[in-house]
Formats: sequence, C-alpha cells, structure tokens
Amino acid sequence: MASKRDYDLLVIGAGSGGVRAARVAAAHGAKVAIAEEYRIGGTCVIRGCVPKKLLVYGAHFAEDLEDARRFGWHVEGAKFDWPTLRDNVLSEVTRLSGLYTQTLDNHKVKVFQERAVVTGPHSVRVGESEVTANVILIATGARPHVPNAPGCEHGITSNEAFHLEQLPKRMLIAGGGYIANEFAGVFNKLGVKITVVNRSDAILRGYDAQIRDRLLQISMIKGIQFLFNSPLEKVVKEPSGALTVHLATGPVECDAIMFATGRVPNTDGLGLESAGVELDKHGAVRVDDESKSTCPSIYAVGDVTNRVQLTPVAIREGQAFADIVFGNKPTKVDYSCIPSAVFSHPPLAGVGMTEGEARNSLGSVKVYTADFKPMKNVLAGRSERALYKIVVDGASDRIVGAHMIGPDAPEIMQVMAVAVKAGLRKSQLDDVVAIHPTMAEELVLLK
Ligand code: FAD
Repeated sequence: MASKRDYDLLVIGAGSGGVRAARVAAAHGAKVAIAEEYRIGGTCVIRGCVPKKLLVYGAHFAEDLEDARRFGWHVEGAKFDWPTLRDNVLSEVTRLSGLYTQTLDNHKVKVFQERAVVTGPHSVRVGESEVTANVILIATGARPHVPNAPGCEHGITSNEAFHLEQLPKRMLIAGGGYIANEFAGVFNKLGVKITVVNRSDAILRGYDAQIRDRLLQISMIKGIQFLFNSPLEKVVKEPSGALTVHLATGPVECDAIMFATGRVPNTDGLGLESAGVELDKHGAVRVDDESKSTCPSIYAVGDVTNRVQLTPVAIREGQAFADIVFGNKPTKVDYSCIPSAVFSHPPLAGVGMTEGEARNSLGSVKVYTADFKPMKNVLAGRSERALYKIVVDGASDRIVGAHMIGPDAPEIMQVMAVAVKAGLRKSQLDDVVAIHPTMAEELVLLK
C-alpha cells in the first residue's frame, strides 16, 4: 500500500489481538507501527491467562502433596513460599514479553512504548508526537471494573493479585465469573481463607447448570465460602488494617478484597470521538463483520469490541483483520462453538449449547452424563467426582454441546470441541474405541 502517511497501519495496544494483527500485516508487506502504554504482550501474557495458569499449577501442589501420601510418598515438612512462586511467575512473564517484542522486531514493526490517543481518522498522538497512518487498529483490550461503592479503593483486582507482597489471611472475592472462581481456587489452596461474594444467586453464568453446581459443591467442601444475593454496600478500612465489607446481607471482615466484577473496554480518553467512531452502551467499539468501526479507516479487534473476551478470539480477529485489509484475503471469524474453560480446582470446560439452551431451542434433546470418581481420586481418598455431559439433538443425533468438570477437563475439551464443531453424531462417538484406563474414555462410553 503506497502511502504519504507515516505508516500503512498503526496499532494501538500490543496485546493478543494487536500483536497478531501487526505482525501479519507486516508479513503482508505493510509498514507497521504499534503503540503500547504498559508492557508488550497485553493482558494474556502480563496479567491474565499465562500468570494465572502458572499460579493454578503452583496451587495444585497443595493437593498433590496431600494425595502423595496415599501413593506411598512421605513429604514431611513441605512448606509453601509465596514470594518464590510470585517471582518465578513474574520472571516467566518478563521472558514471554521479551519474545513478543522480538517477534515485532523480527517483522520490522516500529514499537512506540507510549500511550496513544486518536486525533482523527488517520492520525494518532503517540506520547508527544503526531503519527499518521492509512489504517488505525484499536486493540486496547479491557480493564477490571471496580464498583463505585464507598471504600472500594481499598480493594485490589486481578492486576494486583499477581504482585501481592504477602498473602492475606482472609480474602473476600467479589464476583461470580471465571476470574473470581479461578483466584478463589488458587488462594484457597495457598492457605488463604476465601469468601466469594456474589450479588446474584449463581456462579459462572453461561456454563451448564449441572457443571456449575458441581464446582460450587466441591469448592465448598474445599473450604471456600460463598455468599449469594449479597450486593456490596461499602468497604471500611479499620485502624487495625483489616477491612469490614458491608454487604446487603451483613458485614464480613477480611484482610483484602479483590474485585472480579467484570471487565470494561478500554476506550476512555482514547479520542475516538475525533474520528466519529461509535461506541455501544458498554463503551465497546462498534464494528462490522470485518472489524471495521463506523470510521472507514479505523478498525478494532479483541476485548475492546466486547464480542468474546478470550485470547484465541482476539488473535483470530487480529489475523482476519490483517488478512482482509493487507493480504487481500477475505476472511470471516466464525464465532460458533467457541470452547472455553475455567481453571478452577477442579477445572471445568464447555463447548456449544448447554442443556438449558438446547431445551429452549431444539424440539427434542438427549442428554448423556458420566458422573464418576477419577481413579486417582479413589486411591487418594478424595471424594470429588467428575461430571461429563453431552447434549444431543434428538432429531438428528448431532452432538450440540459438551460440558465437563474434573481433572484436565480443559485439555480433554479442546479435542471434544473438534467433534462438536464438526457436527459429529453421538453414534460416531460410540464407534470410537476407548483408551483404557483414562478419564476421557468416559466420552466414548456414554450411554
Ligand atoms: P489486551 O491483551 O488486553 O491488550 C491490550 C493492550 O493495549 C494492553 O497491553 C494495554 O496496555 C494497551 N493499551 C490500552 N490502551 C492503550 C493506549 N491508549 N495506548 C497504548 N496502549 C494501550 N483469556 C483466555 O482465552 N484464557 C484464559 O485463561 C484467560 N484468563 C484470563 C485471566 C485474567 C485474570 C484476565 C484479566 C483475562 C484473562 N483472559 C483469558 C482474557 C484475555 O486475557 C483477553 O481476552 C485478551 O488478552 C484480549 O486481548 P486484546 O488484544 O483484546 O487486549
């Protein structure tokens, strides 16, 4: 693309979507720059998926060490040291951020380590300079929402959770989504007394009800306390340093409160009005099927568009944008059957329709479940049961949804998602010979 402007493409935000779009557009021959106000890698690498998953691994050792005894291992005097886990996780984050930076350098993408603000359809203020580009991509992601009740400034969000100086004795986690449940699992296993507070009466909306109930039941057995229908009224910092959290259902004392109460698109102060870019009622950039905003030279991908807030989706949107605009390759992101997981203890995962959704939209529905104690749990003397569930369209025998909770559920679900996406029939699962003894074999033995 010939240009009198500084760049063919200027990307704002070097996270999952922005980095993919920048490097693919560069590979297609575009002259590309990217602006990042914090750290290269974005939420997923710096303060999302990656450090979160590493903490989940770290926390899991608590159970593994307990279970080890029944397998003949006597691990006396095992002690946990939070700063060691925290610092090792943060070093890994730094290493990965370096790799992302290297990728951008290798593709000759100019990196501005500054905040960028749109000043017109083709112009952006990056730090103190004005930069022009034929196309601007908004890939600024989202940030944690913090309620505006009095005293909420005493709380932390997932951003700060990775950097805690020391673990609090008692932590209250506000929210019922995946971030709340994942951190509840991690900190509970690391010895923090956890109370999850939710203003509604359910956790993990969008996941299958039976699977959510199973997580709730297991989490409670593990010692996590849940308070439902408890909207937060105010947080008071006591002279002792403790916090009293006033809920509609009464006060709760804790040493730290973490807000996992949703994420809001990063569009505040981004200057989008200067280019006529429309936002929806949540502040997300409104885009069409090709990620184009209401300004023809400005596109947006990832969490800032509030379509599906997951890294692989942001990456696909970034890739499709670059292929369409700079690769002359018409591409559509397919949002059907996106699998997802919650890395709770134990983890759960789902793809396609829940049983409830299928019953609301299909004439006849068949549900197959396996409710079993994994072999390892049996020997370990652990009471937790896994639950696998397949939802089938009664008329066509097609599998329309799969849902599971139990050890390694996300790993197994990634492959099961292929079957659901491909529209396989239940009889085709039945044709597959089991691998024995595994947990996943339950999926081909469902009756
Ligand atoms: P981001 O990765 O957020 O990148 C946006 C970047 O833009 C940021 O680096 C930001 O600093 C920068 N920026 C913002 N404004 C400006 C500006 N004006 N100028 C310059 N730079 C700017 N997803 C999964 O798929 N699996 C998971 O397990 C998972 N776990 C998560 C756990 C947590 C705790 C959180 C918070 C998120 C998790 N996610 C997970 C979601 C995932 O991280 C996001 O969906 C993904 O990072 C979105 O990518 P993005 O490119 O849209 O934005």
